[in-house]
Amino acid sequence: MTDQQKKTTESDDRALYSDFYPPLAQWWQENARDFPWRFGKTDAWGVLLSEVMSQQTPMTRVLPYWMSWMDVWPTPRALSEATPAEVITAWGTLGYPRRALRLRECAQAIVERHAGRVPDAYEDLVALPGIGNYTASAVLAFHYQQRIPVLDTNVRRVLTRALDGQESRGGSATTREKQLAERALPADRAQSVLWNQATMELGATVCTAKNPNCDACPLRENCAFAAAGWPGLGQKRTRAKQSFAGTNRQVRGLILKALRADPAHALSYEQVRGVWADAVQLDACIASLDEDGLVVIRADHSVALP
Ligand code: SF4
Repeated sequence: MTDQQKKTTESDDRALYSDFYPPLAQWWQENARDFPWRFGKTDAWGVLLSEVMSQQTPMTRVLPYWMSWMDVWPTPRALSEATPAEVITAWGTLGYPRRALRLRECAQAIVERHAGRVPDAYEDLVALPGIGNYTASAVLAFHYQQRIPVLDTNVRRVLTRALDGQESRGGSATTREKQLAERALPADRAQSVLWNQATMELGATVCTAKNPNCDACPLRENCAFAAAGWPGLGQKRTRAKQSFAGTNRQVRGLILKALRADPAHALSYEQVRGVWADAVQLDACIASLDEDGLVVIRADHSVALP
């Protein structure tokens, strides 16, 4: 890169910062939702739990589950001593129940490798079961207040729209989206933490996938997407979602629901047959739950939580 190009990039970045950071920071101060895992009201474990629970699930739905999990298992050590049946039952209807088992494994690894303390190094975090780049970055930024881009679908949508004037089309994060996140992150550590939280919140509540509320958006004045007339609004790279009814996901959820409701967390095969009429699909779902470690199939063909 030539010196001239470097200067242009640096001045572009300063303009980007002055166009977007001050209005976003002010909006965050006035509009951030008050969850118990925000504003330093919980520890690193509480933040990690909230981030795992809120993947694919809105925070408002996560709230009662987070409260009860923190009540019963306020530390990694406490959760590490829970049984698989207890965590699957407590996961309720949050969806993607493998996350419950992975959280328990994560808690056990934190106890074994880090004496029960959630680590504050990226490499240590991503080495934990079920913790990927997103969750590790979120824990580092939101609890340990480190400067690191946190890139979820909400942040990707806001940055791609506001800075590039294009729709973020879902799927995995693109190289361009990662570059945008790096470039937009303020150099100041405290400001970078606010930036991450505020862009995520803006994507969840204002710059939503299908109905961005641009009139209420602090970035409206400088948003390239709004200026271009919202080209391709709502278009996705991924294929359309299969409807939930009749899917294996629904059947798996019904089986787990019946097992959670049973006092012994176990059902005879005849009882499980009552959950779903299509026996072939039912058997396939029982087998896949068994493979995922979410149920055990006993010798007499009864099914139980592990
Ligand atoms: S102005 Fe509209 S499209 Fe642009 S960031 Fe705000 S809500 Fe999203």
